[in-house]
Amino acid sequence: MSEHPQRPRILLVDDDGAVREHLARALSDEFVIDTANDGVDALRTLLRIRPDVIATDVVMPVLDGIEFLKTLRGTPSMRLIPVLLISGKAAENLRVEGFEQGADGYLPKPYTERELRARLRSMIQIARERAEASRLAALEQAQQEAIAERAALLESITDPFYALDRELRFTYINKRALDYYARPPEQLLGKKLFDLYPQSRGSVFETNYLRALRQHQPVDFEAVSPISKLWLEVHVYPTERGLAINFRDITARKEVERALFESEAARDASEQRQRVAARRDAVRVLLADTLRLLRDLPAIGAAATQILGEYLNASRVLFLDFSEESERARVQGSHVVLDSRLADAYRLDDFGPLGSEAARLGTTQAVDSVAPAVEPHQLETCRLDDGALVLAPVMQGGRMAAAVWVQHLSPRQWTPEEIALIEEFAERTWIALEQARHQAEMLSTNRRKDEFLATLAHELRNPLAPLRSAAHLLKQPQLSEEQLRYSREVIDRQTNHMVRLVDDLLDVTRINLGQVHLHDELISLNTLIADSVESAQPALDEGHHTLEIQTPEHAVWLQGDATRLVQVIQNLLSNAAKYTPPGGHIQLSATVADSEVSIRVRDDGLGIASEAQGRIFELFTRVDPRGSVKVAGLGIGLAIARRLVELHNGRIDVSSEGAGKGSEFTVVLPTVTGAEEPTIATPDKPAPTVEGRHVLIVDDNRDAAEALALLLKLEGFATLVAFDGQTALEAVERSPPDVVLLDIGMPIMDGYEVARRIRAIPAGADIVLVALTGWGQAKDRQQAFAAGFDEHLTKPADPDKLGRILNETHRRSGNGDAR
Ligand code: ADP
Repeated sequence: MSEHPQRPRILLVDDDGAVREHLARALSDEFVIDTANDGVDALRTLLRIRPDVIATDVVMPVLDGIEFLKTLRGTPSMRLIPVLLISGKAAENLRVEGFEQGADGYLPKPYTERELRARLRSMIQIARERAEASRLAALEQAQQEAIAERAALLESITDPFYALDRELRFTYINKRALDYYARPPEQLLGKKLFDLYPQSRGSVFETNYLRALRQHQPVDFEAVSPISKLWLEVHVYPTERGLAINFRDITARKEVERALFESEAARDASEQRQRVAARRDAVRVLLADTLRLLRDLPAIGAAATQILGEYLNASRVLFLDFSEESERARVQGSHVVLDSRLADAYRLDDFGPLGSEAARLGTTQAVDSVAPAVEPHQLETCRLDDGALVLAPVMQGGRMAAAVWVQHLSPRQWTPEEIALIEEFAERTWIALEQARHQAEMLSTNRRKDEFLATLAHELRNPLAPLRSAAHLLKQPQLSEEQLRYSREVIDRQTNHMVRLVDDLLDVTRINLGQVHLHDELISLNTLIADSVESAQPALDEGHHTLEIQTPEHAVWLQGDATRLVQVIQNLLSNAAKYTPPGGHIQLSATVADSEVSIRVRDDGLGIASEAQGRIFELFTRVDPRGSVKVAGLGIGLAIARRLVELHNGRIDVSSEGAGKGSEFTVVLPTVTGAEEPTIATPDKPAPTVEGRHVLIVDDNRDAAEALALLLKLEGFATLVAFDGQTALEAVERSPPDVVLLDIGMPIMDGYEVARRIRAIPAGADIVLVALTGWGQAKDRQQAFAAGFDEHLTKPADPDKLGRILNETHRRSGNGDAR
């Protein structure tokens, strides 16, 4: 019997084989019939097949229908198979028991085939319904299990997760999300997200949720949550009922990203800074290298402004030199793009408020934009105060000595580094200019020095000629009184002249070394003027000039070194005499005003060209008056005069209307008020009471020693001469003199040593030791006094001073002034 899949399968259990056969045959058109002859046989069959319905006889020999039914109902896999009990001698109790045991139908015997068919059909219907129900139950269970599983899964996901319905009400929220919202689920579920968290309204969160809903497309985004202020990575999935959303806290990542970004930005910025700094360094080096090679003022300014202008891409760079005037600047260099008009000089006002501020504050003034910025076509007419501007001053002694002007015709932001660079340029260029000036000055000083040496040689040779002829004259065997007097006078005048020259030179050295020591005494103006005139008288007489003197009526007092001030006025008078043609008029006047006396020396002589007036007080400066004969002079008198006047807190000035128009020199000195005329102790020259005074003269220059000995002998001294130290010491031991005039610079044993040894012998203690030397500086004097000398005289010794010393041999004086 072939199985037909469409036909329901019936297991027919009956111990009557004839019945089984009959039924199987009769029903096979509609059902697939399997048969078993008792309960045990049926169970065995059920291991093989699964019938839709079982129809079983109740009364059977081995396992009756009721027992069989019990077994079926106790077996899960067969419990649902509908069972139709069939019984012939059906007692009512069997029927009840059958139903109690779970029978699904009962058919009493005898039954017609039609009856059986109908019952089987209804049994099959039950079986179908039962299978469907069971399938549904299983399905439902599976579904429930799946949902539970999914929920468990969602709970187990670490990311926060929640679901919203279409109204954006919470329908689900997992634990992690609850943590995030920090509220219990009952406060969230069923509530609208944006009602609970109004701060999220209008945020990207709302926009993206609505978009996902509207377009039914997932949306991913990253944003800072307005609720938690954390960075979130959000994934929004549209679902049937609304949205499923899961999100993740990415704040840490964002921070790392930001830090990374910032460090990259910082690195980029620092690289950029390094590049800019390298360029700046390069331009600095370029400037330094360029300036080092330049000596010429215009070239320095031009190079510096060009380098700076190109580096800054500036429209105009000017180097302004205010060293001559504060208000007016000479343009020492300019870098100008597209603008050819440029003045040689500018006034401070031309630079607007920047100019006055820079000068007042001494600091750089910078403006990023002065409206209106200039249009390119206006370049030709642009002013100094258009665009972006910098004015960097170079301050010196509290005033603006120079400045760099940078102009950019369109607005521009100046960086602090650029400003610093401009300032550095200003400073470096200024230094280079100053050095170039200084060098030019040094060159001219050197030139003046060379000229000076030539003049000096000439000046020294001048007196030598008359001296030589005088000496020659003196050699003549027969000399007239006249010749003798003449020779004496020549020698006297010329040596005086030479002594003055050498004194002046020594003065210059002392002044340069700051070694001028001034007396501090009260000086009467009248005495000062009288002494000066007296000293200058020979020069005035020589030029046959007339001198007019005007002094105040009342006594005027000054404080200082009379000798030095006489030297100053005498120098002015001598110059007036010297630089005025014979028969000139010279005026000497003194006027007092405001605790100052102005002493003027005016002549109607050669005058001084205005360009030379500033220079004549400089050392070695001589102005050769045009067209006139060369006049003797070393060009140091006025330099000394100025220094001496300054040391007296005064000032000296010249004015002349020009060559040929005479000159006027003015010395202004502070006066002393309320001073009494001091009783000036003019020491009477002591009468020469020198008889019997012994003088030992020691000098390796025989001529000098003997000439001096001769001179002193004439004055009445007893003299002895020694030409070296050893002989001198022997002479002193033999017969100690009152005074020893001792030369310092001697070979073998110098004057210091001789002095020390004289002081070492008993008789030497009281002897007056006088050093005679060509070295007159302070340290030489100190050294002499340390060696035991009482006096220090520079050669050639002033006869008056020597006389005074020799006349005071009765007492050993202290460290007197030997000048
Ligand atoms: P010097 O020894 O050459 O006179 P000074 O220093 O005294 O040196 O003077 C410097 C220069 O100043 C002189 O060489 C001369 O050219 C100028 N000078 C000084 N006094 C007068 C004057 N009264 N008139 C014209 N020129 C003068």
